[in-house]
Amino acid sequence: MDIARRKAVLAAMQFLDTFSFKDGVENYSAVFDIDDTLIDSYTKNVIEPVLELYQYCINIGMPVFIITARDIKYQGFTERQLIKKGIRGYERMYMIDYKRIMNENVGLKFEDVMNKRGYIKSRYRLDIRDSYKYHVLLNVGDDDKDFEGDIFEVGVKLPHY
Ligand SMILES: [Mg+2]
Repeated sequence: MDIARRKAVLAAMQFLDTFSFKDGVENYSAVFDIDDTLIDSYTKNVIEPVLELYQYCINIGMPVFIITARDIKYQGFTERQLIKKGIRGYERMYMIDYKRIMNENVGLKFEDVMNKRGYIKSRYRLDIRDSYKYHVLLNVGDDDKDFEGDIFEVGVKLPHY
């Protein structure tokens, strides 16, 4: 049973049902984290209630983005994993290029970049807002780092087991 997750997902769906998309649903967006949000990092199984919310967003025509702190060197693996788990139709996936960030910032270590992943994720939401011109309506994650920087309207905080 996954009652806490189901409750969070139901509340988000109810919110979407009553929200008036005054700029048109296609100009809003939902952001999903991967690990322990869409995919259980221990069992590697998809987290069903969250996949339902993901699909709900897709079905109403709202652009969906994936923002993950996974290293971009795992992009191919991650894309295949998402397809296999039925996570399709997203507009774009943002990952972190740890190597490039370390190369561009002499002295910065891997752990330093790790510690900044909340900030980096918030910059990606800023990019959704500024480059795509979408409202970042829903932000779905399990970790406090998914919610740094305030660049979203509604946070869907899942339990972090
Ligand atoms: Mg996570």
